[in-house]
Amino acid sequence: MSETPTLREVIDALDALWPRARAEAWDAVGTVCGDVPNPRARVGRVLFAVDPVQEIADEAVALGADLLVTHHPLYLRGTTSVAADTFKGRVVHTLIKHDIALHVAHTNADTADPGVSDALAGALGLRVLGPLVPDAGDPAGRRGLGRICALDPPLTLAEFAERAAARLPTTAQGVRAAGDPDQRIGTVAVCGGSGDSLFADVRAAGVDAYLTADLRHHPASEAREHSPLALVDAAHYATEWPWCEQAAAQLDAVAERHGWELRTHVSRAVTDPWTAHAPAAP
Ligand SMILES: [Zn+2]
Repeated sequence: MSETPTLREVIDALDALWPRARAEAWDAVGTVCGDVPNPRARVGRVLFAVDPVQEIADEAVALGADLLVTHHPLYLRGTTSVAADTFKGRVVHTLIKHDIALHVAHTNADTADPGVSDALAGALGLRVLGPLVPDAGDPAGRRGLGRICALDPPLTLAEFAERAAARLPTTAQGVRAAGDPDQRIGTVAVCGGSGDSLFADVRAAGVDAYLTADLRHHPASEAREHSPLALVDAAHYATEWPWCEQAAAQLDAVAERHGWELRTHVSRAVTDPWTAHAPAAP
């Protein structure tokens, strides 16, 4: 007979999928709130989302979730208050009042196998060849930051940007591209989230295009001067949201293996902070 797992059992499963020790030193991953030691704390519903913002906390309450798993940390740096008159404190209060735990898998999910960029590549119909920046601690060579991918059949840059806009969640920003719109794209590097620190690795990979988020003027301009590498810039939220579906499927598989009575849900709320876009005048 299947049984609802304890919070401790589910947190242990999440830690096995995304070990906390694999997060970057500056990161803040793991369980943010939740009555983990309590054997009576059970998890029947889990909500996955990108951002631990109030809208998502409210969605978790409405859903009757017992656990919220987000990609972004609620607190990246220390705090001296979780009072509800701060927006982060209000999230904590909302969750604790409704007995909802919060768990974060951030850079430990970025570099995992499968990780955030595998989910992004999958959403874009790309075939993953390997990590862009391999994790030195993985002898199998599968973990690491970003992914190098093949696009078969190749598309023009304009077609590939249109595909990204069609397949990633709809955001106000849409998808921007830099390069000749007719350029043939057969290989692509992808990095979910802010990837403009990886240009040297992308150039070394010798790919035709790089799709990531948060590309700023100077890094993008300099990358374009360096080489004919095409750039595709999507909203940060949109590049990471596919991970939520992948992560939920991973926890579903664990639950099935253990015979747990547990349901996973993926939030469809668009938490990208940008909400409007005015196209330039013709
Ligand atoms: Zn991110």
